[in-house]
Amino acid sequence: MLKCWGIHTKKSVAALVATMMLAVSGGTAMAVEKDTSIKNVIILIPDGMANDATALARWYKGSSLTLDSMASGMVRTHSADAPIADSAPAGTAFATGHKSHTGYVGVLPDEATMPGQQPIAAGDAKKPVASILEASKLAGKSTGIIATSEIMHATPADFTAHYPDRKNYDALSMQQAYNGVDVVLGGGGKFLEAAGRKDGQDLVAQIKDQGYDFVTTPEGLKKSTSSKLWGSFSPEALAYNLDRDASKEPSLAEMTSKAIDVLSKNDKGFFLMVEGSKVDWAAHANDPTGIISDVLSFDDAVKVAVDYAKQNQNTVVVAVTDHGNGGLTIGSSDTTSNYDKTPLASFIDPLKKAKLTGEGLEAKLNADRSNIKEVLSTYFGITDLTDEEVKTIKDAKEGSMNYAVGPIISKRANIGWTTGGHTGGDVVLYTYAPNGDRPTGVIDNTDVNKYMTRVLGLDLNTVSKQLFVPAKAAFEAKGAKFTADTKVITVTKGSNKLELPVYKNIATLNGKNTKLNSVVVFNGVDYFVPQQAIDLIQ
Ligand SMILES: [Zn+2]
Repeated sequence: MLKCWGIHTKKSVAALVATMMLAVSGGTAMAVEKDTSIKNVIILIPDGMANDATALARWYKGSSLTLDSMASGMVRTHSADAPIADSAPAGTAFATGHKSHTGYVGVLPDEATMPGQQPIAAGDAKKPVASILEASKLAGKSTGIIATSEIMHATPADFTAHYPDRKNYDALSMQQAYNGVDVVLGGGGKFLEAAGRKDGQDLVAQIKDQGYDFVTTPEGLKKSTSSKLWGSFSPEALAYNLDRDASKEPSLAEMTSKAIDVLSKNDKGFFLMVEGSKVDWAAHANDPTGIISDVLSFDDAVKVAVDYAKQNQNTVVVAVTDHGNGGLTIGSSDTTSNYDKTPLASFIDPLKKAKLTGEGLEAKLNADRSNIKEVLSTYFGITDLTDEEVKTIKDAKEGSMNYAVGPIISKRANIGWTTGGHTGGDVVLYTYAPNGDRPTGVIDNTDVNKYMTRVLGLDLNTVSKQLFVPAKAAFEAKGAKFTADTKVITVTKGSNKLELPVYKNIATLNGKNTKLNSVVVFNGVDYFVPQQAIDLIQ
């Protein structure tokens, strides 16, 4: 047998052996090296996806999910100080490798009281820490975020912004707009417009000023040829996939495909985060239809990522939820005595009859909600509503119809729920790696970050020190005078005046602008700037 070894200066022998492939040509077997060094990572997060949600979605679909072939381990989801996390600290763990506190986005917690946690050093509370996206950008890679919620919602914000309150959309979206992310796709357009912001700034104009192609339709998304792309397809969250108008909003898979097209043009590689945000929202509402809708559309996006990774061979794909939600089970208190005699159809047929989620259904009801029975029959196939159920639907608050009809469908489909909140159990880790280097066993959510940074050769501690220098102490150590309000830092030394607008990547020295490699962060207590800004004062 003839052996033909390719040139492999940078690759380990182990990686080489692992990736050696046999090519048969003209009757001669030849060992050909396939380069599987990792340049790209795509992480897809189905927010708040209960473990039973994938089994339910699979039965509904009638065939395997793309996720099925990728299960490699389990992930612990607790935050620094609570066994049940919310998305802000849970996503922060994936993004930065640090556990945090409820509501905290991309910053350290005040204290870490859960078992096994290292205490937070004095002065480190609420300190910003670098995300894998920021480190990827610094390494010359292209970066992107996608969400079906508002883009400034906790999970996408965790990768692109820093603030100890997920509700501060002004602070989070301003950082997202100035953090050099190449592709941003999702909802939340309202919070970019002056009227939707407390700071009154027109962030859409500022986004366009920075060279983004700002698109608002699937058609615009498809046609864009820009290497900087911001797609904003809804004032708030995008619709559940089942309710989605394809002429108005792209699917998660379409957004993922476009992002990969744009980002993969960079020879140095890319990092992309994709969130199926509303799996979580459906779980809070105990709405199985919303879950199935968005688990299946999430799985379609995973397929796009994995198909690319399989063909590309330099890409790792991770799919993992940040926490459980709802306690969804196939089987409920109604099946306690007959669970093993309950046929598949009793679970799935009631769900199959639903043509919309509760959110989509709300728009079909007339103003006085006098057509409830007719609408439920037409769109949900439910013809046996009780008077009490009619009243529940009639009384449902605007925007909360999933909470009314979710339990009504669940009852008919024998779907159980234990809570309207998040849950604290382990979740499934799904990975694809062309070289077979995948985490196994039960790992921590921070280990998901450590895996991704390891395969990309990134060091987040070094990047954190480089991007988030406590500004006051650093400038004063140089003999400069430091003043700041919540909008701008002003530093003076001799005749030099340096201005650093908060949450932007702009430094103005004596009237001349320099673009910084990251944003200026105010965490409500202190100011943090890139070392690059400190170096501007001599
Ligand atoms: Zn949630």
